[in-house]
This record gives sequence, C-alpha cells and structure tokens, in this order.
Amino acid sequence: MILYTFKKGVNVIDRLNQSELREMWEDLGMNLELHDQLLESNSRLFKKTHLWQKKRPAAMKLFDRALHDSHGQRVAEILDYRKGGGKSVGTFCIYVPDEIAMAANVLTIPLCGGSGWSVSYADEMLPRDICPLVRSTFGMALSETCPYKTLKEYPLGETTCDAKKKTWDLFGIPAMEVPQKKNEEDRKLWISEVTTFMKDMEKVSGTEVTVDKLRDSIRKCNRKRVILQQINGFRRLKTPPISGLDALLVSQVALNMDIDNFISAGEELLEELMERADNDVSAFDGDGVRVLFAGTPSPMGYAKVHWAAETSGLQIVADESCTGIRYYRDLVPEDLDTLDEMIEAIADRYFKIDCPCFSPNTERFDNIADVIDEFQAEAVVHNILQFCHGFNIEAGALDKMLIEKDIPSLKIVCDYSEEDGEQIKIRMEAFREIIESKRNR
Ligand code: SF4
Ligand code: SF4
Repeated sequence: MILYTFKKGVNVIDRLNQSELREMWEDLGMNLELHDQLLESNSRLFKKTHLWQKKRPAAMKLFDRALHDSHGQRVAEILDYRKGGGKSVGTFCIYVPDEIAMAANVLTIPLCGGSGWSVSYADEMLPRDICPLVRSTFGMALSETCPYKTLKEYPLGETTCDAKKKTWDLFGIPAMEVPQKKNEEDRKLWISEVTTFMKDMEKVSGTEVTVDKLRDSIRKCNRKRVILQQINGFRRLKTPPISGLDALLVSQVALNMDIDNFISAGEELLEELMERADNDVSAFDGDGVRVLFAGTPSPMGYAKVHWAAETSGLQIVADESCTGIRYYRDLVPEDLDTLDEMIEAIADRYFKIDCPCFSPNTERFDNIADVIDEFQAEAVVHNILQFCHGFNIEAGALDKMLIEKDIPSLKIVCDYSEEDGEQIKIRMEAFREIIESKRNR
C-alpha cells in the first residue's frame, strides 16, 4: 500500500526492503548490532518528540519519511549516484557553498550528528567537555554506525569554533578558512577561500564549473531556500498552520534530502499550508505564547528543547539557528554574467551568515530584532548546546538588547541526553506563566 508519494516523483530509485538495507549497511562496513540500537533510539525519540502532535499537516509524512530514510533509502540513492561515477564530500557547517559543489557535480553530505545515542562513543578520541554535536558526529563514525563514512571523497571542515578546528587536526580533516572578522580584508580572504573551494571541487569531479552550470545551481539552491522561506513565512500568522517542531524537522531534512525531492515535497507542504491558512487551521490548540528560538543548530535527530517548549504551551514561531533562518535567509543574485561575479556574489551571500565565530557579531543582534518584530515573538528562548561558548556567551550580550525591547528571555543550556527533558519542561512552563502574567499587566 502506498501511503504517501512525492507529487512529481523526481530522482527516485526503487525502495529497498529491510534485508536489502541490511545487506547495504554490511557492505558499507557498518556495525549492524550497534546501528540497530541507534535506529531504535532515534525512532523512539521521534515518536516522543513529534508524534504527540494532533494537528500536523498531512504532508509532514513526506518529511517524517525523509528523516527515517536518512540512514536507509537516502544512503542507497547516494550509493547509486556514486556507482554511476558521482562524487561527494562530507560537510559540517552551512558556510560550505552548495552552489559551487553542485556546479562541479559534487554532492555535499552534511554530517553533523544530532543523536544522543552515539555521543559516548566519541570518548575514545575526544574529550567529554566539548559540544555534543561534535561528539555525536564522531561517535557515529567511531562506532561504525555512520553510513556516510565511506560515501565521500573526503570530509571538509571549516575554521569556525575551537571544538571543530581541533577535531579536524586530530582526524586529519582539511578545512576551509572562515575569517573571524568582517572587514574588507576578511572578505577578500573569504572570496579567495571560496575560489579555492571551487578549484578543489573541480579536481574532485574532473568537471569544470562554467557560467551556465553555476547559474543553474544558484537558481536551484535559491529555489530550495525560497521554499523554506515560504514554509516558515506561515509562522507569522496568528494561528500558525505548522508547529515549531515540524518547521524544525523540515529544515533538518532539507540538509540531507535530494534537492529535487526536497523541492517537490516542500511544494506539496506549501499548498497544504496555504489551504490551512485560508481556513484558519492552527497546528496548535489555543493561543500559546509566541517565542523565537535562538542559538545553536539542532541537527537531525535532536528536538528535545523544541519538544519541551511546545508541550508546555509555548509556540515557536521562528528559529534563527543554522537549522532555521540562518540557512535560508539570504539568496544569491541570479542575473550575473561572469564566473568572477558569481563567485563574489556567492562568497558575499555566505559571508552574511551571522555565526558567533565572528567578533564582533552585531549583524546577528539586528537580525534577531527584525525577526522578533516580523513574527511578533513575545519572548526568546536561547537554545544552547553545552560547551558551545560562542552562543552561550553571546546570549548575555543579546539579552541587553532584548531588555531594551522589553522581550523576556530564557536560556537553556543542555546536551543531547534525555534525562533533563522534564526539568526543562518545568522551566518552560514557569517561563510561559511569566509571559502570560506580563500580558495581563
Ligand atoms: S553555528 Fe556557526 S559553525 Fe555551526 S553550522 Fe552554524 S555557521 Fe557553522
Ligand atoms: S554548536 Fe557551537 S561548539 Fe558545537 S560545533 Fe557548533 S559552533 Fe562549535
């Protein structure tokens, strides 16, 4: 029985059955016993964090499936692509320009881990007091449960935070240099890094990046980002037709799904959201407190703080993280004529990313102030992964701006473990009560 299908059915290969999947994982050299534990943990958590919601758009089934396919059918698609001569590189950050890799026929595979299950397996190589995102990623690789470990020419890091930089050194991973300031000389350095990245991608695939190819990939990446903008745009409504949990899921799988399949699924969701908006159908029961989530990324598999908020009467109406607005806010102009102009425009688009690895990072403050106004957020939750010093310290400076705007904030610093979920919920409930009483003042 077909329960759901992509409307335009693009880039689809035959779905593998369970025994074919196991054979594929075995051929990839994975530890099947541990991988079963990982899948069981992910699936149990997903049921807990997402499936309690009673008013989800029907099209969310496409994204639920994409999440479950991330270790199965998606791997089969990439394997198939590589068997046909396709090349791929692993990435860990949204600074790596997809447009350029795509124009060189190289697929980028985001590798950031969001599973708490794999974190302790990183102990073999990494200290315990670094952020769980890095530990989860390398825990998966070290426990032989990452299906992407051998599905790439190489992993490519970037010089953002200390935890990542030193991990690249430890594992011998090459890295793009992301400057730490945004002056003109830093911009020039970044343009030259992006140019080097293009040459590296050309070498990897043996394909020259041409004006036409780059224009096509710019258009396609823009299309994907516009779809994300439109889906998230519905969260401005008084009765948002999609929850924060589901909007996060869409952004998480956007990084892993085949881009054509994502565009097709996104268009299907958009049609449904339009209909729900016309009929005033909310994803939530009643009027909750509208909050903006700010902070670290929440990679696929991780939604603990979103779950704690939305099961406590908060309605997350915007996410400013890299699994949110930061990924899709800016586009690349499509009307440029030369390769140099395009490279510069792509570099500028990525240089606008307001990650706390920059000092100062005042753009982020302005962007957050705009999002609060645009989405009529009544409060901000700083959602911060433990040991991420950049976001954690920057939350204090952001709070000064929020106090001036009379916007209350709550800072949640935690790891991927499940133990503190109920405690976080208690804090969310108390926060909601404070904002409700502020409303009545
Ligand atoms: S938070 Fe910074 S380092 Fe992490 S993915 Fe985003 S831009 Fe990259
Ligand atoms: S969450 Fe923070 S510490 Fe962790 S990888 Fe991203 S920037 Fe680095």
